[in-house]
Amino acid sequence: MVRELKEVQGIIFKRQKYKEADLLAKIMTKQDGIITLIVKGALRPKSRLSAATLNFSTGTYIIYTSGHGLSNLRTYKEVKQFDGLYHDLTKNAYASFIFDLIDHAFVEYQPIGKYYNLALFALNKIDKGVDSEMITQIVQMKMLSAYGVEPELRHCVICGKEKGVFDYSIKLGGIVCSDHFGVVNSRMHLKPKETAVLRTIALLPIDRLGTISINEETKKATRKAIDRIYRETIDLNLKTKKFLDELKLF
Ligand SMILES: [Zn+2]
Repeated sequence: MVRELKEVQGIIFKRQKYKEADLLAKIMTKQDGIITLIVKGALRPKSRLSAATLNFSTGTYIIYTSGHGLSNLRTYKEVKQFDGLYHDLTKNAYASFIFDLIDHAFVEYQPIGKYYNLALFALNKIDKGVDSEMITQIVQMKMLSAYGVEPELRHCVICGKEKGVFDYSIKLGGIVCSDHFGVVNSRMHLKPKETAVLRTIALLPIDRLGTISINEETKKATRKAIDRIYRETIDLNLKTKKFLDELKLF
């Protein structure tokens, strides 16, 4: 494939030292997927490219790319920072985990479609001070489908009932209604309210999830449930998740 100059819009979410004064920066874009960029001279003082590739910068970047492997960052137009996020360790840890989770669901240059909007939604909310834990749980539930896990949350997996009291079964891949609580050994024993939260955050479109507020106890229980669903269906073992869990102990 020919190398070409291309304009991409995206969010920088990871950077590491490369050769000498160069950096590798990962950018998440909507149309062109996730791309690793070589940022030449970024570690030199006064590098303009370095400032434009800080974590969670977003804007328009001009890259030199062949559509696979490493691409080169040439220059950029209009880049802005999520200020509320950059200087806050906890918010930063949540955002890093969210981007890591999205990153791992795709191969480089694979278009990520609606999940780009999900990433942007999460960054905007966390930046503005909306409950980072809740935003993260929303992203986790919505990312299950990208990993090929599509739990049935609309109705009972056994009888199809849509309304009532529900629990969740990882083994059966969805919710079960109270009519079968006695016969389903694999249910998680979540409280009805907790299953209701999982259903809501998974099923409602993000633009309708703005005002969700949940008490601490329920939030802890749903976090445990979501972590268990991930552990038993995908088993990712992300360092950013480990870091986030450690951070929460303090
Ligand atoms: Zn049922």
